Amino acid sequence: MINDKSMNTLQPLCFVVDDDEVITTIVKKLLIDSGWRVEICNISTQALPGILNSKPDCVLLDIMMPGLDGLELCKQIREQDTLADTRIIMLSAKSYAFDRKRAYEFGADGYILKPPDLKNFTQELRRIVDDEFSLEFWGIRGTLPVPGKNSLRYGGNTSCVSVRFSRERLFIFDAGTGIKVLSDYLLKTTREKISARLFISHSHWDHVNAIPFFAPFYRPGNVFEILGPAQGDVSIRDVVSAQMDDVYFPITINEFGAKVSFRDLHEGHYEIDGIEIRTMMLSHPGYCLGYRINYNGHSVCYITDNELFPENSEFYDASYVKKLEDFVRNADALITDSTYFDEEYEGKVGWGHSCLSEVSHLAHNAGVKKLYLFHHDPDQTDDDIDRKQEIVSRLLREMNSATVCLAPVEKQTFIINGH
Ligand SMILES: [Zn+2]
Ligand SMILES: [Zn+2]
Repeated sequence: MINDKSMNTLQPLCFVVDDDEVITTIVKKLLIDSGWRVEICNISTQALPGILNSKPDCVLLDIMMPGLDGLELCKQIREQDTLADTRIIMLSAKSYAFDRKRAYEFGADGYILKPPDLKNFTQELRRIVDDEFSLEFWGIRGTLPVPGKNSLRYGGNTSCVSVRFSRERLFIFDAGTGIKVLSDYLLKTTREKISARLFISHSHWDHVNAIPFFAPFYRPGNVFEILGPAQGDVSIRDVVSAQMDDVYFPITINEFGAKVSFRDLHEGHYEIDGIEIRTMMLSHPGYCLGYRINYNGHSVCYITDNELFPENSEFYDASYVKKLEDFVRNADALITDSTYFDEEYEGKVGWGHSCLSEVSHLAHNAGVKKLYLFHHDPDQTDDDIDRKQEIVSRLLREMNSATVCLAPVEKQTFIINGH
């Protein structure tokens, strides 16, 4: 016999408030089929006492309801201390960016469009309830794009990674040619206006030269901020505008239709869109910033380009190694410059990039959970990247390390705090 009480403590509870009984019937079935308990209220003015009583994991609210609209009810729920852990998700046919923005201002955690997509509805709801954030790779090569048969599996585009958070917050790291792949994806999948932050590690071509090909920059209504280190007296705005000027490119940044602002970053701590970002100057020619995102008890580090000199090198700096280890300490994800095999590195000391054994030591010594090999040399083939992953995995095993090594593929997504 099934014990109802113990079942209940395991099953999450969703409280649905919508005056449309057809919708509540569909939603109830979808939720129950995927293991939720469900309570329904079709009269919004009567919903709050029921929500206070059952303290659900999640409240699903329609917006347009007679008597008390969903936004007002959302605000009332947010004012209740006992419901601080309850996620609020709007379920509405209103697809305007304005309505989404308003919902977030009123304290909503997510926004799902009506009619609910039967295939993905519960998955999307779960993502919002768990406050999942994900890491997406759009270009994993370094230095130069490498089209052709030797890069079909991993992709041939240069550096671009994005991190996506709840409430449609999107952070992009670097604008190598991978940002064109991201651009295509965003245009295909985003119905509403796009807004994002673009963090630049440094001004070398393979990290900035596809900025002019990011189509959302040319769409009125989109909003972006480009952030990165100034190069001495050359601001990040100058870095971007210089390559889109004069003999280099026929379109200037003045022709961006979106609202695009710029911010120079330094080594330090920032809070951006409610997310903690730390920065550190890396070992690379010029000013190159590494980034660490801390969110919800999880962290992602983006550390490229970076040269880790071996201990026997005249350039070895123990304090830098220690500082970087502390910077990436216990990260869930470390995406880092793993350009060379050890034997290749010997001829390329001082070029600003790292070899596999040094990267393995960094990840292991810092207690990183997952190490993502990144910024591969353009002369390396897909098979070489396979071999790099095998070598690093072996080195980690030899150190009895708990770090897992991955070689991400273009367009691959990883959930950082998922189940
Ligand atoms: Zn590079
Ligand atoms: Zn570089």
